[in-house]
Amino acid sequence: MTRVVYLDNNATTALDPRVLDVMLPALRNVGNASSAHPGGRWARAAVDDARAKVAALVGGRTQDVVFTSGATEANNLAILGATSEHDERRNHVVTCATEHPAVLEAVENLRSRGVPVSVVGVNNLGLIDLDELSRVISERTCLVTVMAANNETGVLAPIADIASIAHAAGALVHTDATQLMAWGAVSIDDLQVDMLSLSAHKFHGPQGVGALIVRRDTQRELHPVSYGGGHERGLRSGTLNAAGIVGAGAAAQLVYDEGSAAASPTRRRRDELAHAISERVGADHVVVNGHPLDRTPGTLNISLVGCEADALVAAVSLVAMSTGSACSTGVPGPSHVLTAMGLPPHIADSAIRLSLSRDTTDSDIEEAAAAIVAGAQLVLERMNLNTVGIS
Ligand code: PMP
Repeated sequence: MTRVVYLDNNATTALDPRVLDVMLPALRNVGNASSAHPGGRWARAAVDDARAKVAALVGGRTQDVVFTSGATEANNLAILGATSEHDERRNHVVTCATEHPAVLEAVENLRSRGVPVSVVGVNNLGLIDLDELSRVISERTCLVTVMAANNETGVLAPIADIASIAHAAGALVHTDATQLMAWGAVSIDDLQVDMLSLSAHKFHGPQGVGALIVRRDTQRELHPVSYGGGHERGLRSGTLNAAGIVGAGAAAQLVYDEGSAAASPTRRRRDELAHAISERVGADHVVVNGHPLDRTPGTLNISLVGCEADALVAAVSLVAMSTGSACSTGVPGPSHVLTAMGLPPHIADSAIRLSLSRDTTDSDIEEAAAAIVAGAQLVLERMNLNTVGIS
């Protein structure tokens, strides 16, 4: 197979071989975690062990973990489940313009059913407007949902500050922390959130498994959005994906042990990648999108101005990368995140997202920079607009 430099880790990360090893016995086991025979009891014990590891990663209790099929389902459960029983005195929902579609579409669904919604804007660096947030939150607000780290730009939100404002008005706080979890343990106490979504495939676990972390007091206010056998304390019915959950637990343990140590070398490599591209293309023709510092260590959203991103991604077969959000691939039009940041169309249209992981090496960076610059030259020649003067 031809070598690929994988820089699409915000879309999904490689399964860590150590996680796969832990999952194999669970994949081979025959038994439903709800069954009382030995195979079922084995699955239950494996799930319990994984639940403790996921809880430890976020500083929660094992009883706070509701396993789901991923962050999309976790976000939907948080948003639809926490708002379903409120009357008009407290039914207002607040979110941010740059959220993942798994939040924005759930909130839009509420709006279409008559629920009052406020969508707070961001500045040109992608930082949420806290003044606007304070203005829109009131004693009628039941839920504030703001992502901890953006999947397209990596920009971080001051979740504890947001939570203080929301809690002062008596609202619940949910954060989609999907893109934060690869970089070390977090604390729901420090973040001051009532609910947190995560997804294992963003931190070297398997696809199709995630969790909504729900604090004890909030569990009483959360209602299921699907009904069945009453699994996960009635909040998410359905046979547990035991092997996936075991993988999520093993991946969580690895992040707990190694995630924060990987952050600083990854940040250095990301900045070297930006520098290498910018040096060869010319700093005047390159824009890094999003806050330069308040970003996840692995994310580089960069525009090679004038070089159409779709064409660039197609031209550079060595590098696996994305334009905008991988989740929105196939959806025409500019990225809603870059648009909300007020980027002019020619910068938004030339934005590529390069996302590193703890596995990214120095030689990956060198090869990727060279390939991207060569690809840009090719695209610009094809477009007959080679004003960039790549050396
Ligand atoms: N939220 C964010 C911030 C994401 O990046 C993603 C995945 N792109 C999701 C939610 C959806 O996660 P999942 O694939 O686990 O449904």
